[in-house]
Amino acid sequence: MIYNVAGLLTGNLGDSEQHELENVSLEIDGHSLKEINGPVRLMRTDQSVHVTAEIEAVTNGACSRCLEPATLNVVVNMEEEYSPANNDLVGKSGKSSNNVGSSDDDDYYDPALTITEQNYLDLTEGLGQALLGALPIAILCKEDCLGICPLCTVNRNIIQCSCAESSIDPRWAGLAGLTGKGAKFVD
Ligand SMILES: [Zn+2]
Ligand SMILES: [Zn+2]
Repeated sequence: MIYNVAGLLTGNLGDSEQHELENVSLEIDGHSLKEINGPVRLMRTDQSVHVTAEIEAVTNGACSRCLEPATLNVVVNMEEEYSPANNDLVGKSGKSSNNVGSSDDDDYYDPALTITEQNYLDLTEGLGQALLGALPIAILCKEDCLGICPLCTVNRNIIQCSCAESSIDPRWAGLAGLTGKGAKFVD
């Protein structure tokens, strides 16, 4: 996921390149993302390279309801600006370099979105963050996962326990017994 963009930076505004990610894997913040696929488009803008990517990926984790292994498909549309560390290239062909050294924008420096002095654009961190942002807070093995029974702890996707059939809250079970005695009394 590292591209040499020297050609783009020395080219004309609006020049673009298209790359294809095929079955790439990525580890980020403890998440393992696999089968990363999709087109990546790099376009030369005034002072940067504009990156757009439509990415699909797969990740694994434990289902937050039943704790069984779950596979999750992630889709993300990434869009970022990558600025060159080597401003000379864009400075030469850029339409304006009058404000070099005086712009407050120079104070903003994000290493993940910086093209190296050698003109390499590394998509790894930016794409990883985009994918992380697309992950749901809770992974589910399936949308209607029944989870684990809080009373008898069976996986309710596999075993249908009878706990749920009883509408009596366990805290009231004792009272239910009293009611039973009461009923007997009425008889
Ligand atoms: Zn589940
Ligand atoms: Zn149960």
